[in-house]
Amino acid sequence: TTVEETLLSAIRTIPDYPKPGILFRDITTLLGNARAFRRAVDELVHPYAGTKIDKIAGIEARGFILGGAIAHQLSAGFIPIRKKGKLPHDTVRVAYSLEYGVDEMEMHRDAVQPGEKVILVDDLIATGGTAGGACRLLTQMGADIVAACFVIDLPDLGGRAKLEALGVEVRTLIAYE
Ligand code: 5GP
Repeated sequence: TTVEETLLSAIRTIPDYPKPGILFRDITTLLGNARAFRRAVDELVHPYAGTKIDKIAGIEARGFILGGAIAHQLSAGFIPIRKKGKLPHDTVRVAYSLEYGVDEMEMHRDAVQPGEKVILVDDLIATGGTAGGACRLLTQMGADIVAACFVIDLPDLGGRAKLEALGVEVRTLIAYE
């Protein structure tokens, strides 16, 4: 079986969650499937094997799970990017757009040093509002964003194109039209 087949069959789709009309792609079933979880992580990291990556930045909360595994695999450090108010030390904060309205996310000010090579990780990219905000935080602190990696792309929502327009290399494993 191909990686794509393995991942597609391990992801569960929940209709009308969290709101009527939304098809939620649930990756908890992928995480619970040892083979699918390993394949997703292996496939996301393989282009960067042998490249020096200083840090993986994971977006709360599912980006922490994938990002932690990827950091281990690439012998990189890990940076949590969190919803506002959760990090205990000095932070940099950015507002980002959600489907309805805005929210804010934060990163510790000393989490990344200028010039460090960073890969951004989350489970899914839709409009790119969340990942775009995370890229702004990293860029503001002088990080060199090597790539942004996601298991799932929803290309109709334009997030991938938006990040690419900012000059960020985007890697995704499967897409739902
Ligand atoms: P965006 O900011 O690109 O519009 O939305 C992406 C963010 O929302 C990611 O942090 C992602 O975890 C979450 N998200 C949106 N829709 C889904 C979905 O269907 N499944 C999962 N697992 N996450 C989603």
